[in-house]
Amino acid sequence: MSERIVTMINAEQIAARVKELGAEIAREYKDRNLVLIVVLKGSFVFAADLARAVDIPLRVDFLGVRSYGEGTETSGVVQITQDLSRPIAGEDVVIVEDIVDTGLTIAHLMDLFRTRAPRSVKVCALLHKPARAKVAVKVDYLGFTIDDKFVVGYGLDFAEKHRNLPFIGVVERT
Ligand code: 5GP
Repeated sequence: MSERIVTMINAEQIAARVKELGAEIAREYKDRNLVLIVVLKGSFVFAADLARAVDIPLRVDFLGVRSYGEGTETSGVVQITQDLSRPIAGEDVVIVEDIVDTGLTIAHLMDLFRTRAPRSVKVCALLHKPARAKVAVKVDYLGFTIDDKFVVGYGLDFAEKHRNLPFIGVVERT
């Protein structure tokens, strides 16, 4: 069986949208204490581009999360594999997520962060699959809404492969 990746969102489309998101965040967080919390591993590429598009002082921290095994179905269990390096009390948090699928991960992270007394918590996600929502989550800054397809590339993996693709694509087996 061979595998090919069909492009869903190309690199130029991603770059243009990430610039817009960055400008929007910069406008809204001017004169605030912005910290981007990057949810690893899938968000590392998006976050690297987004952070450079937010043209105001900010802090970046990382949170390691595991919600899937090697397959493509969510387990519903969110495991923290690496915690933040510093407290977020009094800061304005924007969680940077690659994709909101069932919403379980973001819902869990919002609950977790609220216990740490930040000034505010918002969500920036590159992709959203509303068809699969299990809990309602508000995505404050959203790149693209997509159909219910399993996507890879631009940081997103399938069994740890394809994270380095510069575009978002769908794996097809022929
Ligand atoms: P949720 O908790 O919203 O169901 O899932 C969030 C996490 O599941 C994402 O951060 C991502 O790691 C993974 N995920 C959900 N949908 C996809 C997908 O289409 N492709 C990949 N590679 N990961 C996905």
